[in-house]
Amino acid sequence: MRQIIIIGSGPAGYTAAIYAARANLKPLLIASSVEAGGELMNTTEVENFPGFPEAVMGPDLMFKMQAQAERFGTEIVLDDVVSIDLTGEIKKVTLGSGATHEALAVIFATGSAYRKLGLEDEERLSGHGVSWCATCDGFFFRQRTIAVIGGGDSAMEEANFLTRFADKVYVIHRRDSLRASKIMQDRAFANDKIEFIWNSEVVGIGGDEQVQNVTLRNLVTGEESELQLQGLFIAIGNDPRVHLVHGQLDLTAEGTIAVEGRSSKTNLPGVFAAGDVVDPTYRQAVTAAASGTVAALDAEHYLASLPQNLLDAAADGASGDLELTTTA
Ligand SMILES: Cc1cc2nc3c(=O)[nH]c(=O)nc-3n(C[C@H](O)[C@H](O)[C@H](O)COP(=O)(O)OP(=O)(O)OC[C@H]3O[C@@H](n4cnc5c(N)ncnc54)[C@H](O)[C@@H]3O)c2cc1C
Repeated sequence: MRQIIIIGSGPAGYTAAIYAARANLKPLLIASSVEAGGELMNTTEVENFPGFPEAVMGPDLMFKMQAQAERFGTEIVLDDVVSIDLTGEIKKVTLGSGATHEALAVIFATGSAYRKLGLEDEERLSGHGVSWCATCDGFFFRQRTIAVIGGGDSAMEEANFLTRFADKVYVIHRRDSLRASKIMQDRAFANDKIEFIWNSEVVGIGGDEQVQNVTLRNLVTGEESELQLQGLFIAIGNDPRVHLVHGQLDLTAEGTIAVEGRSSKTNLPGVFAAGDVVDPTYRQAVTAAASGTVAALDAEHYLASLPQNLLDAAADGASGDLELTTTA
């Protein structure tokens, strides 16, 4: 048995691991089989993470975080958690390989997934004009023509924000009216740089190295047309990765894991949550990292409150349980 297992290898998971490892809790971090490193593995330059005045490539930043977590003794497993039992005093985490690990505390840092359009060139041009985050990437689009896809509050907020940089911001929406709140709509309608393209969807993204255009289909007439632009911001929603904890952890109205106040404490003792999976609002690398710190400190305090015999059992198992495999 472990003292602590961390699920997720984004900024929240790795930062929690750095703190937990430095507190001598010998964490086991389950990093995912194919997506280790989290969302920043899908981007190019990160210009807003403190400490990198010349910017840092997303994957480089995540490899550095991983190395920092490993330096203090975090064990990392490249596998997916497929089921989890968080209800008892001893938490059970089962991986895709069939291995089951036990721990006294779990930090859940599985992030959230931006909804995608599902177009062939969307992934290829991610970080090369296609973005899901205006706060992260708006700065790269000074004096450019760009588009935001979506009709909700986030889309309006992104469109308004992006007019600080871009010369022209199209808002492309599938319907002829917005879902966004009245105040957000009014603000967007009043902004001279924003132009709405109604009843339309993007059916293609063009460009070799960088986005150069999108193909639009008018959903009323069926007509297709091309729009020249340099950036495409997709703001059609975000899904916190919580399917593993349904029925065990309380969720908020936004679908994120509910935590107590500014802490990372969930409704279950010994279970903590951090990063984008608890955050419907900010969703930044640095806020996720900070949240990972909070979770590790909360877990440390929780562990310190447990009876010594349990801690001794966990300390004994800390470095030998990677072979522990159950098929039941
Ligand atoms: C394209 C893009 C560019 C961005 N650019 C910036 C930027 O420039 N600056 C900035 O501050 N923010 C940026 N962001 C936002 C930032 O990436 C996120 O806010 C941050 O990564 C959230 O960290 P996290 O640790 O909560 O989750 P994530 O980074 O999403 O990591 C979660 C991890 O958990 C893993 N996981 C999920 N389920 C399981 C499971 N069952 N078993 C094992 N592992 C699992 C995932 O595979 C993933 O590795 C960007 C986001 C995107 C998509």
